[in-house]
Amino acid sequence: MKDRYQVVVIGGGIVGCSVLYHLTLRGLSDAALIERDELTAGSTWHAAGGFHTINSDTRIAALQKYTIDLYPQVERESGQRIGLHLTGGLELAGTPERARWLHAELAWLRSQGTDAYLVTPEQAAEMVPIIDPSGLTGALFDPEEGNLDPNGATRAYATAARARGADVIEHDRVLSLTRTPAGEWVVETEGGPIAAEHVVNAAGLWARRVGRMVGLDHPLVPMVHHYLVTDDVPQVAAIEGEMAAVTDLEGFTYLQREGDGVLLGVYERHPRHWSVEGAPWGFGRELFPEELDRIMPELSIGFERFPVLQEVGIKRWVNGAFTFTPDGNPLVGPVADVPNYWAACGCMAGFSQCAAIGLALANWIVDGDPGVDAFGMDVARFGPYASEDRYLRDTTAQFYARRFVMAYPNEELPAGRPLATTPCHEAFAAAGATFTVNWGLEVPLYFAPIPDFREHWTLGRSNAEPIVAGEVEAVRTAAGAYEIAQYARYEVIGPGAEAWLDHLLASKLPAPGRIRLAPMLGERGRLMGDLTVSRFEDDRFWLTGSYYLQDWHMRWFRRHAPADGVELTNVTDRWMGFSVSGPASRAILGELLDDDVSNDAFPFLSVRPTRLVDEEAVVGRISLTGELGYELVVPVDAHLALWHRLRDVGAVYGLRPIGDRAVDSLRLEKGYGIWSAEFRQDVTPAMSGLDRFVAFDKGDFIGAEAARRERDEGVTQRLVLLDVDAGDADAAKDDGVWIGDRRAGEVTSGAFGHHVAKSLALAYVDRDVGAAGTELTVFVVGEPRRATILPEPPYDPKGARLRDLEP
Ligand SMILES: Cc1cc2nc3c(=O)[nH]c(=O)nc-3n(C[C@H](O)[C@H](O)[C@H](O)COP(=O)(O)OP(=O)(O)OC[C@H]3O[C@@H](n4cnc5c(N)ncnc54)[C@H](O)[C@@H]3O)c2cc1C
Repeated sequence: MKDRYQVVVIGGGIVGCSVLYHLTLRGLSDAALIERDELTAGSTWHAAGGFHTINSDTRIAALQKYTIDLYPQVERESGQRIGLHLTGGLELAGTPERARWLHAELAWLRSQGTDAYLVTPEQAAEMVPIIDPSGLTGALFDPEEGNLDPNGATRAYATAARARGADVIEHDRVLSLTRTPAGEWVVETEGGPIAAEHVVNAAGLWARRVGRMVGLDHPLVPMVHHYLVTDDVPQVAAIEGEMAAVTDLEGFTYLQREGDGVLLGVYERHPRHWSVEGAPWGFGRELFPEELDRIMPELSIGFERFPVLQEVGIKRWVNGAFTFTPDGNPLVGPVADVPNYWAACGCMAGFSQCAAIGLALANWIVDGDPGVDAFGMDVARFGPYASEDRYLRDTTAQFYARRFVMAYPNEELPAGRPLATTPCHEAFAAAGATFTVNWGLEVPLYFAPIPDFREHWTLGRSNAEPIVAGEVEAVRTAAGAYEIAQYARYEVIGPGAEAWLDHLLASKLPAPGRIRLAPMLGERGRLMGDLTVSRFEDDRFWLTGSYYLQDWHMRWFRRHAPADGVELTNVTDRWMGFSVSGPASRAILGELLDDDVSNDAFPFLSVRPTRLVDEEAVVGRISLTGELGYELVVPVDAHLALWHRLRDVGAVYGLRPIGDRAVDSLRLEKGYGIWSAEFRQDVTPAMSGLDRFVAFDKGDFIGAEAARRERDEGVTQRLVLLDVDAGDADAAKDDGVWIGDRRAGEVTSGAFGHHVAKSLALAYVDRDVGAAGTELTVFVVGEPRRATILPEPPYDPKGARLRDLEP
């Protein structure tokens, strides 16, 4: 043990040990792991050790595959046995809808390169002879599942990291974390202080407490979880070789072989939180008494699905705790205001995700970049709202209780809502709005003109689509008003603003009074943002981006800290407004403003400060729908008044409020991308088409070298717009795109283009199959569908309507 390390990892569970190992893989061996007790002493020691690749985020799923593939290497390198069983796993469906969903999952798994296949209930019962197949509608076998020995795997990581030069210090609790004025961490431990450049919070059950040591409140909370292990089961003992793991999706249980018996785990519908602030410091390797009454409803279903369990003895019960976040994925990465502090916590599937976290974090510490699209586990994907007690309890309980429950693509989950609303919320609700949620904020999905309308959850197109079609048509023929409270805004002012932004953004900066689309790149030339820059004066700008990226943007801005003479403020909550678009939008604006709003006086991509509803306001000529359109922004207190005025003035022009669904349909008719779908951290400007906004020749900017290299070398994939020969469902994000039996790409967004009457999808496809007219296959809810690459967007391809030019 030394008194100074480059990195100190706090916590010796499976996550901390994997982080330490990955640091050494990246050559960073001047690192120590500090463990309060002995390795595995948190959640890790009593885990069931199961793993799989399934994740609602496809990029996290790929990282889970990396985790599984790495185990043999760690075992070999450490010489420590990890009890790896690659058994494969069965998922059982108990309803026709769920069987259809398994088809979709099969197509998704195949497009991830996994050799999964469907089996009948009877075949499932042959593979795992203790399954009672009655009532089942289908099953899927995924070969990339299995289990291991949690203790062995954790020690293997630690041993391999030690062999590569890192230190592992046990029985030494971290008591506090402070930063010296020079920016170094002082890690106060029971054994004395240790200096460190970086600290990693991998404290598992205690991670919320360790976060508080640096003033953070991470949105994670421990919950209790049961499994039982049976005595020997003759049918299991008789199986030679591995027995597939089983997840009974309608039954809330999972099962795996444990010796010659089985382990049955339960995700009950009424879960229980425990020690929400983090486990007490004195908590040892302890289990809780079984709470059979609470889990009995789900346990009984398990005993019916696996009837032999009614006959064999139960050898042991495990009721232990592990941590959950609102969406079930971990919290990984740096935070904006605490330099060189790294989160690696909130991990509920440690044996599927430990290497994913280790890889991303080690890359991030060494390169300043996770090296993969890690947004699905990025600590910045949640804002401070997520740590609010009620919200955190409700959302984590919802996630736990729905662990195996199918979420329909159009389903709105209720937990923790409404948390935040805009001043228009009640008026919108009265106008028939159905809401979705964006970073805690309720935002309209669509406005149902029918009282008490209820949308059906479905894998196909829903009964809300005719309503969405009406909103689309209003925009194409009259006008629609879309609430843009869900845009983040940052004000950048001061004499240094221009120089700072010029370096931060890959585009040229607009002239005063103008707007420009501005990709923001990371050092490796991949996208970090698709911002819009509005310039009011020489030294006063607004950056506009996605609402849910506020922490992510601010972290990036701070990392590339504004120089002296630049004042950067997140003004998102101060300004709100509407995007009004459609052929009638100019006439409506003309009634709201005294200004000249003619095409010449107020051209496309211009912006001006003005007054609306007796308040200061900003109006920019820009729209996401492909129509003539304007963004009207006012101080938040005037937002409702603005809506009332718009509604009243717009009524005679046929203006309708529109929601997210209509915007999706409208933007796909124009082939426009958005963040998290087409524009992502693993995508480059040329792949996405954003290169047309990159000013390659403007001198130095972040990512310039990589962007220029890409321009010269070309790309391997590019974004295309597909006309999909769809049935009752449209393509969705991550649906596989194939040419013959070769996987050629993946869908990023899909929707029905109501005006052009086409099912449309944006997709990244390999360059050699990206020519217009190429016929590809997209798997939509598991069904192969013909998809043709369109030569141009089907609606107003030249942009005449947007610019209000002669067509
Ligand atoms: C009953 C049960 C079954 C499970 N089954 C599975 C499964 O089948 N598959 C799966 O993937 N996951 C499973 N899990 C979840 C899994 O256990 C966790 O995802 C995983 O263990 C999390 O690992 P971790 O390293 O993040 O946290 P932990 O294992 O909690 O490790 C954190 C470590 O940090 C140490 N620490 C904390 N504070 C300090 C401090 N101040 N100073 C020094 N050290 C500190 C702790 O002592 C602890 O050892 C299960 C959990 C339970 C409870």
